[in-house]
Amino acid sequence: MDLGISGKRALVCASSKGLGLGCAEALAEAGVNLVMNARGAEALEKAAVDIRARFGVEVVAVAADITTEEGRAKVLDAARGIDILVTNAGGPPPGMWTDWEREDFIKALDANMLAPIALMKALVPGMMEKGWGRVVNITSQSVKAPIAVLGLSNSARAGLTGYVAGTARQVAPHGVTINNMLPGIHATDRAVSLDTGVAQQQGITIDEARAQREATIPARRYGTRAEFGAMCAFLCSQHAGFIVGQNILLDGGAVNATL
Ligand code: NAP
Repeated sequence: MDLGISGKRALVCASSKGLGLGCAEALAEAGVNLVMNARGAEALEKAAVDIRARFGVEVVAVAADITTEEGRAKVLDAARGIDILVTNAGGPPPGMWTDWEREDFIKALDANMLAPIALMKALVPGMMEKGWGRVVNITSQSVKAPIAVLGLSNSARAGLTGYVAGTARQVAPHGVTINNMLPGIHATDRAVSLDTGVAQQQGITIDEARAQREATIPARRYGTRAEFGAMCAFLCSQHAGFIVGQNILLDGGAVNATL
């Protein structure tokens, strides 16, 4: 399918690895020029070189922490006038509901709620002026069904989801869509670190922890970054202009709900 977005420009945040990289690759395959971002310059440059070589698109790589004002300023400088924004950042650490203090919540809110909001505030007005734009926020299945050990994620992402629900309807008249993608467990470094936490907690191997977590998913496997990226590219395509303010779950059926 021709996604109709060849030649457009996208900012994909936190995209040297994992789900962000999957989104960057799928957009590049659709002919979209990229601004890619991550904190670590080496992995980011490697990903940028690989994408330029495989898809022949322009890639500007900006090594910066997207959760800080200074980091965002660097990224936004390179992303002026973009057509597509994919927000993403690392997820907060696991723990017990009694563990977290105010500072922990502020950190989670900065990373997983306030950073994407700041990016939308900076970039959506330009999209509205042009009469076309796409925003996809990477959130989590924890928005639909809380994950006990990820209370910081449950909280911060719920706040972003509420903001998007109200904002998406206000910018839609200008040809701009905002939607959220809610990953269940995908085979990325983040999944390995959560597998490792389960293994340590239960005194089992990482493979056993993975098998245990896979058994909770009706598809009986983790998702891939390519599957995730393909959905992201579709939501950014010309065909998705009527999809507004939605929360799209990609979880192999893990959330047991009718709607
Ligand atoms: P990942 O494999 O660990 O990759 C994270 C990517 O983001 C890396 O490129 C990392 O590079 C970059 N990054 C992290 N913090 C950043 C920051 N502050 N500023 C800029 N770049 C940053 O993680 P993932 O699995 O793709 O997860 C992406 C998001 O989806 C996370 O918020 C995660 O909580 C959420 N999620 C993931 C899953 C899953 O199963 N994978 C499930 C639900 C939700 P640097 O470290 O070099 O910055």
